[in-house]
Amino acid sequence: MDTPTGTLSRYKMFIGGEWVESASDQHFESDNPFTGKPWALVPRGNAQDADRAVRAAHRAYTSGDWPKLTASRRGALLRKLADLIGEKAKHLAEIEVRDNGKLIAEMSAQTAYMAQWYYYYGGLADKIEGRVIPADKPDTFNYTRYEPLGVVAAIIPWNSPLLLTAWKLAPALAAGNTVVLKPSEYTPASALEFMKLVEQAGLPPGVVNVVTGFGPEVGMPLVEHPLVAKVAFTGSDRTGTLIYQTAAKGLKRVTMELGGKSPNIVFDDAHLENAVKGVISGIFAATGQTCIAGSRLLVQKTIHDEFVEKLVAFAKTARMGDPMSLDTQVGPVTNPPQFKKILDYIDIAKGEGARAVLGGARAARPECGSGWFVEPTIFTGVKNSMRIAQEEVFGPVLAVIPFEDEEQAVAIGNDVVYGLAAGVWTQNMRRALMMADRLQAGTVWINTYRAVSYLSPFGGYKRSGIGRESGQEMIKDYMQVKSVWISTATEVPNPFVLR
Ligand code: ADP
Repeated sequence: MDTPTGTLSRYKMFIGGEWVESASDQHFESDNPFTGKPWALVPRGNAQDADRAVRAAHRAYTSGDWPKLTASRRGALLRKLADLIGEKAKHLAEIEVRDNGKLIAEMSAQTAYMAQWYYYYGGLADKIEGRVIPADKPDTFNYTRYEPLGVVAAIIPWNSPLLLTAWKLAPALAAGNTVVLKPSEYTPASALEFMKLVEQAGLPPGVVNVVTGFGPEVGMPLVEHPLVAKVAFTGSDRTGTLIYQTAAKGLKRVTMELGGKSPNIVFDDAHLENAVKGVISGIFAATGQTCIAGSRLLVQKTIHDEFVEKLVAFAKTARMGDPMSLDTQVGPVTNPPQFKKILDYIDIAKGEGARAVLGGARAARPECGSGWFVEPTIFTGVKNSMRIAQEEVFGPVLAVIPFEDEEQAVAIGNDVVYGLAAGVWTQNMRRALMMADRLQAGTVWINTYRAVSYLSPFGGYKRSGIGRESGQEMIKDYMQVKSVWISTATEVPNPFVLR
């Protein structure tokens, strides 16, 4: 899989339980965002590879060992996979750091935690029960059963490749589906490394497959493929819209986890030191490259200047540099187009009249080497109608917007097309609960930020998505219900009327 050629590691795709090259016989380079240089060569998949992978997944769904397994047995395989993730967490974390630029300080914990999705859905696999319906017709017995959908195409973005894979793969497999995974072209390596564990866990060939390459070349053919029953997507709302339209033509199911422009709302009765940390965590953790970034700070006018001062003082201390170093707090941007996009948005904000009270440029610190680093940036004087307040930047850029009172905080908070998450900082219980009710967001955090769990549903209102991930209910998004009728009558009644 990763035999070094010169200095580059070389990967193959994983289809039908085998390590294969692309039908294109071409490769693309995956870069290390800290050095700005390529470190791996990855097959450039195309429509033929997508077809090969979907057919392998479909074969595994309809024949062989997988469909014969009991739900309990499937669950046991997922728990075995979870054990292996625990053993290899450090290695997986290092791959993510190299391919993505995420911090080792965050990833070591995240790859280990990721195992929980496989334990949880492994445990849930044999607890999805149908019902016996109290039939309203004499001499009939009616029951329901939950069945898998078939082949699921899981399309993953670059910002948290393995975690977002777990959110889809664990419930899809627990439900009995088979999966074709397409990681982002910017971060393809970790999914391929992860397949070694899938192999080791003993999942039958074809149950999980990985194709690598570019969205339009190998992602879209998956979405279009007639044997794909469901598309589970995380990424930009632009690509999500395109995938949704295409999936609609095949009447496929979708779940979509898209962008955000989440408000982090600080009232003057908040514990200010905690709120400062919460706002920092919301926008500078993961270099702001998260869909849940709290990229709009709504701060009550009475504390605006004091709060911004504290925030800038804290943010100034953030250590940038090598993401492999445990001390680093802000790492590089993952890829050059994203780097350019962030810098463009900084210019847009300046052009709109916002004031950069911190940062506002590429980071040229010696510890940043030749990586793609942007200075943690804070803009004040932002109006919610500005592009910097409306559009997702996906970087370490915070827009500070003052508000007068609760009504205005709700109005500004909701005045974006997105609705993924929101943070509220207050010590007033009535205010906290009222805000939680009125904010249009799939997740509301009170006096905390960036808390997610395998136990709790996650997803977006409005343009932030369709459906939810994690938690019990959503496994049914990977299933369909069948109603079975049995007659216990000794005679068939009048055949010309509805029974
Ligand atoms: P980002 O801006 O985060 O790169 P995208 O939404 O473009 O987000 O990408 C998320 C995932 O969607 C990636 O795996 C990417 O390759 C894939 N993708 C991009 N364009 C398409 C497309 N037209 N069809 C299918 N998948 C796509």
